[in-house]
Amino acid sequence: MGAALRCPRGELQRSMATFVELSSKAKMPLFGLGTWQASPGKVKDAVKYAIDLGYRHFDCARFYENENEIGTAIQEKIKEGVVKREELFIVSKLWCSFHEKPLVKKSFLDSLADLKLDYLDLYLMHFPMGYKAGEALKPVDEKGMVIPSNTDFLDTWEAMEELVDCGLAKAIGISNFNHYQIERLLNKPGLKHKPVNHQIECHPYLTQEKLIHYCHSKGISVTAYRPFGAHTLKPGDPILLEDQAVKEIAARHHKSPAQVLIRFHIQRNLAVVPKSEKRHRLEENFKVFDFELTNEDMETLLGLNRNWRDCIMLPAINHKDYPFHADY
Ligand code: NAP
Repeated sequence: MGAALRCPRGELQRSMATFVELSSKAKMPLFGLGTWQASPGKVKDAVKYAIDLGYRHFDCARFYENENEIGTAIQEKIKEGVVKREELFIVSKLWCSFHEKPLVKKSFLDSLADLKLDYLDLYLMHFPMGYKAGEALKPVDEKGMVIPSNTDFLDTWEAMEELVDCGLAKAIGISNFNHYQIERLLNKPGLKHKPVNHQIECHPYLTQEKLIHYCHSKGISVTAYRPFGAHTLKPGDPILLEDQAVKEIAARHHKSPAQVLIRFHIQRNLAVVPKSEKRHRLEENFKVFDFELTNEDMETLLGLNRNWRDCIMLPAINHKDYPFHADY
């Protein structure tokens, strides 16, 4: 992993020659576009504009309920000749209410149809937790707590392995697992395909050093989600984009705080998938290959860690497979 991570200063953004090599030998661009809460009516323009700018990695999910529009954008850009399918790296995720084995392929095929593709580059298990199957993506009881299914993520994984065997998914991976759950998966008797990637919340307030070290030691690449920290701010929550230390580093490099927060991951050999549906921010976020944070900058950013997690999935806290009780 990590052979071709550094770009010479000033290299054209379009060349996008920065990848992580997965254990499947596929190359995943380190920089991608997140699409959670990318709004209907806006996400198509955002994806098309992103492709024009040079974005090649798109992080999607059935749960985001916008894959159809993303698929239209991708198709239009392929038809225009701006990009070829094989130049794109498209990720989707299996949602928790589709963990029952027979539902896995069906849900995958729904994503594939919406995205208008005939294979995915990477398919992730969104969470290790299975929810009751049915209409609702988040089935809850009268107290607002998630209704679990009695599925085991090891069985769900077997159904995901079949997607690789039949060529529909080039590779499979996981998201939001703790290291005990990864260990259990890696030790599964008869494991056919190892997870090639783990997608986790990661930013200077949640640096995830132990989990990243663990994943890399097992040959599992890591993607950082929510790189700007808090999404839904509650009173008193820290605001990463306004952190004085981040602002000072940004000023020194003549960059924005957002660019520093993205670059932070790239220099840790992590893929990163910031979301924006605004053209000026899509441009800003992409300009992260023409500067380098110093070792001191990296130490300062790592030193901001406070194990502060934004995506805590409170309604699922009693689930048998809730991942965030473990220290990592
Ligand atoms: P994020 O990318 O850290 O932040 C997105 C927010 O930041 C949006 O409100 C966006 O607003 C704003 N923003 C974007 N660029 C900015 C800039 N340059 N300056 C200031 N604000 C900026 O959070 P996220 O969307 O939660 O995480 C990124 C992606 O990770 C998701 O979209 C999704 O693909 C993935 N994800 C995965 C999981 C999982 O469980 N696996 C969980 C969460 C997220 P505008 O759109 O208005 O620009």
